[in-house]
Amino acid sequence: MTGFLEFYSDFEDAEIVFRGIPYDGTVTFRPGTRFAPDATRVASHGLEGYSPYQDKNIRDYPICDYGDVFLPFGNTERIMDLIEADAKEIISTGKKLLSCGGEHLVSFPLIKAHLEKYPELKIIHFDAHTDLRDKYLGEKLSHATVFRRVCEYTSPKNLYQFGMRCGRKEEFIWGRENTNFYPFTLDQFAEAIKAIPKDTPVYITLDVDVLDPSFFPGTGTPEPGGVTFHELHNSLLLLQDYNIVGADIVELAPDYDPSGVSSITTAKLVRELALLLT
Ligand code: MN
Ligand code: MN
Repeated sequence: MTGFLEFYSDFEDAEIVFRGIPYDGTVTFRPGTRFAPDATRVASHGLEGYSPYQDKNIRDYPICDYGDVFLPFGNTERIMDLIEADAKEIISTGKKLLSCGGEHLVSFPLIKAHLEKYPELKIIHFDAHTDLRDKYLGEKLSHATVFRRVCEYTSPKNLYQFGMRCGRKEEFIWGRENTNFYPFTLDQFAEAIKAIPKDTPVYITLDVDVLDPSFFPGTGTPEPGGVTFHELHNSLLLLQDYNIVGADIVELAPDYDPSGVSSITTAKLVRELALLLT
């Protein structure tokens, strides 16, 4: 396996840990996100370690690529427990965790682990989908139900959702009534995050299908009408002064984009997220 670009630190010295979670067991349409962590690592070597946007070099920070979480097939609840235990072990040492899915369901145990450490955590969620179903095909644990499950562990008022343009009517009603709900665009992002105090712990969960499929086709449930890379990236840069304590990026399914651009885009977002965590 090729490690992610210039994540040179070993685990002991690392302040930020990059972890792959190659799980796509509840995917509803086109599977393949299990291949995302390695595709992201390979694609990263086409990038520079220097971010001119943040004026920071990856190599100047102790970041470790700690490989992938080992997951068995089948039992969804056990897999959730394994991901949560792995995250807790890493963040209990004071390191920050940057996870790369996998499908969006992996964010549920990751956010649970962070909520235990930071009960006042604010969650910033980018997605084409609300992921607010109570059940999907009778299942409580699905990549379509992630944020309903998260809201059983924290107030929906701690959840900030952006870019959603797909879901059932009842999800949109529930979101509008309960979460901080900003569908369709990122136009209100700058205004919305002003409600978050700069010292409050923030977790970013980035479903790459928030991007328009015209330039990000490599995902399982592409949804037309998405945002541009520039809009997404500008929103992330607005978080530079915030207390970002953890992040994940999910739902890249690299094999649906033979050009490889979706994997490169994900790798670039990983670089930018890693530098936001520094
Ligand atoms: Mn999602
Ligand atoms: Mn989505």
